[in-house]
Amino acid sequence: MFDYRAPADLLQGRVILVTGAGDGIGRACALSCAAHGATVVLLGRTLSKLEAVYDEIEAAGHPQPAICPLNLETAVEKDYNDLADQLFDTFGKLDGLVHNAAQLGPRTLIESVKHEAWLELMQVNVNAPFFLSKAMFPLLRAAPDASVVFLSSTVGRKARAYWGPYAVTKFAVEGLMQVMADEQDGTSEIRVNSVNPGATRTAMRKAAYPAEEPEKNPEPADIMPVFLYLLGPDSKGVNGQALDARG
Ligand code: NAP
Repeated sequence: MFDYRAPADLLQGRVILVTGAGDGIGRACALSCAAHGATVVLLGRTLSKLEAVYDEIEAAGHPQPAICPLNLETAVEKDYNDLADQLFDTFGKLDGLVHNAAQLGPRTLIESVKHEAWLELMQVNVNAPFFLSKAMFPLLRAAPDASVVFLSSTVGRKARAYWGPYAVTKFAVEGLMQVMADEQDGTSEIRVNSVNPGATRTAMRKAAYPAEEPEKNPEPADIMPVFLYLLGPDSKGVNGQALDARG
């Protein structure tokens, strides 16, 4: 695993938005950030899942989170701007933005991918992180050293047959990360990096590898050190890096 031991109060006073916070890696990230003192904004499309994470954070006595139900497939510019306005009124800044939500889509020959499926994957996996980043920039600038983290994939760094639009969207995410990181380099305190979680025991992994024994892969909670490192002050100055949760 990525070698980092986070102090208990690492994220005290920080406001961190996690997309896809209701399940899988996003849920673990939200819980871990809250456990390290952050106020977490839980964004996702299934309200009941977000509420369950909210309750878990509250029951543990961590800072009270906020819930933001949003379907990234159908969200439009006004939704993102309204969210930015709400966060500005409530918190006045955003210290961390984790672009975690993604869909797997069809894993098949490129020539067999339906146009609608291609567009849906681009919308959720690429367009949404762009729209959300764009709307959040004023809030990120209002934080002393904001950190943006994109979730990538092994097939977003070296593509493989049959990974279809998913692999292409993860290459796009790496590209968006690099452009944003280079633009912020030397012009702001905002850092922008990507993380490849590697095989992790979630619903997406199960859908991609139905015959695999889930116990073979780490739990989402096991891969949190790299996220804590990137979201906390110890990674100040780390910018434009493509990191691996497994170290
Ligand atoms: P997951 O278990 O499928 O969880 C994905 C999360 O994203 C869920 O909370 C889901 O909400 C949310 N989401 C999906 N579509 C959405 C939409 N249209 N609007 C809003 N939220 C949406 O996936 P995961 O395995 O945790 O993956 C998290 C990230 O890691 C993804 O970017 C994935 O590509 C990446 N990754 C995962 C692995 C792995 O082995 N697990 C490996 C490499 C990369 P619902 O629960 O409501 O559906």
